[in-house]
Amino acid sequence: MSKIRVLSDQLINQIAAGEVVERPASVAKELVENAIDAGARRIIVDVEGGGRRLLRVSDDGEGMTRDDALLAFERHATSKISSADDLFAIATLGFRGEALASIASVARVELLTKTEEAQAATRILIEGGRIRDVKDAAHTKGTTISVRDLFFNVPARRKFLRSEATESFHLTNLLTHYALAHPEIAFTLTNNGRETLRVAPARDLRERAFQIFGERFIANLLEVEGGIPQVARVHGYISAPRERRTSRDAQYLFINGRYVRDALMARALSEGYRTILPQGVYPAALLFLDVPLEEVDVNVHPAKTEVRFRRAAAVADCVREAVRRSLASAGFVRSSEPNEEPATDANDRSKRSEGPVSSSVKSEEINEARPDASTRPLKLVPPPQQSRITFGPAARIEEKDDERTAMAAHARTAETGGANAAEQKAYKQRSEAGMQEARSSSSSTENLQEAAPAKMEAELPPLSSLSGIVREVPTASVATNIRPLGQLEASFIIATDDEGLLLIDQHMAHERILFEQYRTREQGRVLESQNLLLPETFDLTPAQAAAFDIISEDLEAYGFGLMRLSGRTVAVRAVPADLPAGEARSLLAELLDSIDAERRTLTRESITERIAATLASRAAVKYNTVLAPEKMRWLVDRLLLTSSPTTCPRGRPVILRLATHDIEKSFHRT
Ligand code: ADP
Ligand code: MG
Repeated sequence: MSKIRVLSDQLINQIAAGEVVERPASVAKELVENAIDAGARRIIVDVEGGGRRLLRVSDDGEGMTRDDALLAFERHATSKISSADDLFAIATLGFRGEALASIASVARVELLTKTEEAQAATRILIEGGRIRDVKDAAHTKGTTISVRDLFFNVPARRKFLRSEATESFHLTNLLTHYALAHPEIAFTLTNNGRETLRVAPARDLRERAFQIFGERFIANLLEVEGGIPQVARVHGYISAPRERRTSRDAQYLFINGRYVRDALMARALSEGYRTILPQGVYPAALLFLDVPLEEVDVNVHPAKTEVRFRRAAAVADCVREAVRRSLASAGFVRSSEPNEEPATDANDRSKRSEGPVSSSVKSEEINEARPDASTRPLKLVPPPQQSRITFGPAARIEEKDDERTAMAAHARTAETGGANAAEQKAYKQRSEAGMQEARSSSSSTENLQEAAPAKMEAELPPLSSLSGIVREVPTASVATNIRPLGQLEASFIIATDDEGLLLIDQHMAHERILFEQYRTREQGRVLESQNLLLPETFDLTPAQAAAFDIISEDLEAYGFGLMRLSGRTVAVRAVPADLPAGEARSLLAELLDSIDAERRTLTRESITERIAATLASRAAVKYNTVLAPEKMRWLVDRLLLTSSPTTCPRGRPVILRLATHDIEKSFHRT
C-alpha cells in the first residue's frame, strides 16, 4: 500500500503556489525538514561550492518504498496531509508536497532510499524534472538526496545567487536553527569537505546550545518560561543585557518547532528589553513559541518561513511578558517598575535620605567642574553616615545566588560530558569568519536585519571584557547601603557596601538616572529649559529637515525651544536645563540623523525613547570630572532609585564589585 496520495485539484489550489527554491539554503531547508518528518535521528549535510555544486542530505529516517520514491517527485504529492481540514492543524514541517518536485525541476537530483522492510534500496536519477534512471542500489535504511548543479537549466536564477561565502553563511545558519530545534537529533554539516558543525544527540536545548555556541554564551543565558494557556507558551533562553549584538543574527526564533522569520516575535522580544537595551542593539535569544495548531496559519508562504496568528496581539503580549519576567527575576529590572519618577529634584530626595551631606545638589550642577587631564586625583572623603535604602527582600538575593551556582555547575557538566572544547572553538571561529565574509559581500541578505547605526559597533567593548574577580552586580544585591569613598581617575566612584568594594561608572550612572527621569516625564509636562543668550541657527540637510518635522514637537516637550525659519534653517532658542549648551548642536544632528535612518519603523514611543536616551547620554556627567563628596552621594542615592541601577540604558554594566571574600582570598587570608 502506497502512503502517498496525489491531492485533489481543489486542494492544490488552496495551497498557494509559489517559489520554494530561492537559494541553496532553501533547498537544504526542505530536505532537512523532510528528514526530520521521516523520524531521522541523525542528519548529515554535505555542501560544495556554497551548495551550488552539491548539496547532499542524508538521514536515517523511515525511507521510502520504490513506488513512494517515484511519487515523491510529483507536484503536490505528500504523505503528510490529505484534506483541507488538515491544513489548519499541521503538525509536520512539510505539507505542501511540492518541494521535491520543485527542486528536481531545477537541478540534477539523485535519490537513494530504503525502508526497513525493503530488500534493496532504490536509486532514482532525475534531471530538470525528467526521470533519467530508476534502479536497485545499496543503501542502509533512510534516505540520501544529492542535489547537484542547482539552477543548471535556469541561468536567470543562477545569477541571483550570492557569493559562496554568503550562501555558506545561510546554510550554516539554517543548520544551526534546526540543530537547536531538535536537540535529540545528531547533525553534521561539512562545507567543501571541512566540518562546520557536528553535534551529538543532546539531552535538551541547553546542552545543544552549549555544543554549538560554547560555554561562555551559555553562562550568560537567562531561562524564559511563560505564556497563557490556549494562547501561547514561550520557553527558551535569552541573553543578559551585557550580551548584545548590532543585528538580530543571534536570535533563533521558532514557532511550533518551525524556523520562521517572524517579525512579531522579534519585535515582542525587543519590547521585553525596553529601557534595558537601546534601539539598534539586540539580545541573543533561543526562543520557542508553542501555539495551538489551529491558532496559527503556516500556509502563508511557499517556503513556510512566515506564519499568521489568529490572535497576534495576545501572542506578542505572551512573548514580551515572559521575556520581561525573566529579566526581572535575574535582577535586571524590577518586577514592578515605578510608573513615575519619584522626584525630579534633589530637594525631594533629601527628605528620604538620612545623611546631611546629600543636601541639595541639582542634576545640572553635577556637570560643572572639569579638570584638565593632568589633575586626576584619587580623592578620598570620609565615609558619610549610612543611608539605608533597601528594595527587595534579602531572601531573594540568596535564591538568585543558588540559581547562579547551579547554572555554572550545569555549564561545567555540559563541558565535560559534551563537546570537544577545541572543536567548539574552531567551529565558532570558522563560523564567525564566515559571517564576516558574508557581511562584507552582501549588505542586506537578512530580512530581519535592521540597519543599526554603524557608530554603535565601535562603541561596544569586547564581550569578554569582564573577567576575574571583579564582577557585575545583580540589581537584587545592590540593596544595601553604598558608601562612596572617592574617585578613581576622576571617572569612577569608589564605594563600599556590605559585600565589598564597588566601582561605579559615573557617566553611566548619571545616564541611567537621567534616562529614567526623562522617560517617566508625565505626559504633556514639558521639561525645564534654559534660554540661550543668543539663539543658534542650524542649516539642515533635506533629510534632517524631514526628520525635524517628525520630531520637533517631541523635542519641545523635552525642553527645546525651536523655531523653523525660512527654507531648511532652524533656530534654537532654548535647550533642556540639564544639557550643557555646547552639546545642543551635535545632539540635534545625532538625533535627526538617526531618526531619518529609521523613519519607516518609528513609533511615537520609540521617538521619545530615542530622545530620552540621547539626551541622557549628552547631559550625563562626563568622565574626567572631579565630583565633590555630596555629588557622589547624590549620584549613588539617585541611581539606587532607578528601575535598573546596575545597567545603563545601552546595556553596559554601571556597577562592578570586588567582593570582600575575594579580596581576603587574594591576600591568602582564608
Ligand atoms: P512534503 O514534505 O510537503 O510532503 P516533499 O515534496 O518535500 O513534500 O516530499 C514529498 C513526500 O516524499 C513526503 O510527503 C514524504 O512522504 C516523502 N519524503 C521526502 N523526503 C523524505 C525522506 N527524507 N524520508 C522519507 N520520506 C521522504
Ligand atoms: Mg517536504
